[in-house]
Amino acid sequence: MLVYRATDPAPAAQAPQASTSKVVVDPVLVVPEHQVLIFNVSFQPGARTHWHTHSVGQVLHVTHGQGRVCLRGESPRPMSAGDVVHIGPGEVHWHGACPETSMVHLAITMGDEGVRLDPVTDAEYEGPG
Ligand code: MN
Repeated sequence: MLVYRATDPAPAAQAPQASTSKVVVDPVLVVPEHQVLIFNVSFQPGARTHWHTHSVGQVLHVTHGQGRVCLRGESPRPMSAGDVVHIGPGEVHWHGACPETSMVHLAITMGDEGVRLDPVTDAEYEGPG
């Protein structure tokens, strides 16, 4: 067991390389040797990740605002504060804010950071309408 106090030095911030620029990634708990990565991720309106996968999976807990999550081949689905989303191993997906609304979620990633794919186009972000 590891206990990290709020007063401990924060783990290194993760560069938001797998997302648009309007995303802030704050580390909460980073223990790669135990395959646990937890980040508090803040998306400005319109901001989203790239398409990506996770080797073991990821849990998203939306704590503020309204956003979207989308699996490849499906339409974007809304998510809002209080919602919890589980992404399965290898599922190609993206997550982000709504166009007019910011969104904050806790991202609990099991395994490694996964694989970054292509940026999400505006058409993919808007969905089939
Ligand atoms: Mn993800």
